Amino acid sequence: MNAPVSVVATPSASISVRHDWHREEIAALFALPFNDLLFQAASVHRQHFDPNAVQVSTLLSIKTGACPEDCKYCSQSGHYNTELEKEKLMEVQKVLAEARLAKEKGASRFCMGAAWRSPRDKDMPYVLDMVRQVKEMGLETCMTLGMLSGEQAQSLSEAGLDYYNHNLDTSPEYYGKVISTRTYNDRLQTLSHVRDAGMKVCAGGIVGMGEDRKDRIGLLQQLANLPAHPESVPINMLVKIEGTPLADVADLDMFEFVRTIAVARIVMPESFVRLSAGRQEMNDEMQALCFFAGANSIFYGEKLLTTDNPDANHDQQLFQRLGIHPLDPRSECSDEATEEALLESVEAQQRASETAPLYYDANKRAAKHVLNKA
Ligand code: SF4
Repeated sequence: MNAPVSVVATPSASISVRHDWHREEIAALFALPFNDLLFQAASVHRQHFDPNAVQVSTLLSIKTGACPEDCKYCSQSGHYNTELEKEKLMEVQKVLAEARLAKEKGASRFCMGAAWRSPRDKDMPYVLDMVRQVKEMGLETCMTLGMLSGEQAQSLSEAGLDYYNHNLDTSPEYYGKVISTRTYNDRLQTLSHVRDAGMKVCAGGIVGMGEDRKDRIGLLQQLANLPAHPESVPINMLVKIEGTPLADVADLDMFEFVRTIAVARIVMPESFVRLSAGRQEMNDEMQALCFFAGANSIFYGEKLLTTDNPDANHDQQLFQRLGIHPLDPRSECSDEATEEALLESVEAQQRASETAPLYYDANKRAAKHVLNKA
């Protein structure tokens, strides 16, 4: 099937940041032949990022289970019997010990997740204390605590929280089939409170929940047409949990997952696209394909809230085999550091050019484009 010319890019094509994506345009990207889509996504990736750097975060569940929401995929929902061991809000000192460990293992960002509909006023002082102290360790901080009021967002921002995670999960049309206890608009409102409070947004979704491609298109359109793109876009593959209503849903074709990553990269060219839940079920080759398609962020560590994640040693080995290095957090916020990283990448490619001159030339052009913009 031929796609409209407007969605086909060359390595040196400039992809601007847009907030007016039509569903038909996103559908045309999804419909591209796989190799054309990956080529375009990888080209966009190289215009905006060092293609061999991956941002690494660690995620800790600070309050587990008994959540009043009914998200049909979630082991932590109190509506389903998943035999998950519930845990109250973790003590601050225990959280700090985990953060220290994460830092030693190379994480640059520490994400803390609580299974709440929204934080209660009595929990806020503890949560704010965690943010302040983790931040003092030199780690970036991220939290996911459910819905936030404007005041709660403001106080988290004042405590030094860098990112707030709140996913849209799926398209507005499919949303009602997955969650009934909060609306799509509730989610958009929380994202808007987070932005108004000056924090960075982490928002993405889950695929493989029985939705159609048009729902994956709808999700990416919602994210890409937000007033500002989320700085971080986690794309999760459903991890099927025994006891949840989605435990027996049909598997999603892995190539469709890679397509979703690639399209997210193209429509949100400056966002970190995170290869998130579901990595445990992916082999190394599949993960490498996702990195090539534009994923440039992962969670390190054995647990992703309550589901398994590849262990850190295996990730380190994979990075080594692929020539990938963990991203220095400086390069996320500093033009100077981005320039440095890109120049380093070009120099590495120059060394490789002795054996692959065409590859080097294409990437030198892409890096120059970014440097010229700065
Ligand atoms: S996804 Fe979050 S809000 Fe939904 S049930 Fe799980 S912990 Fe609760």
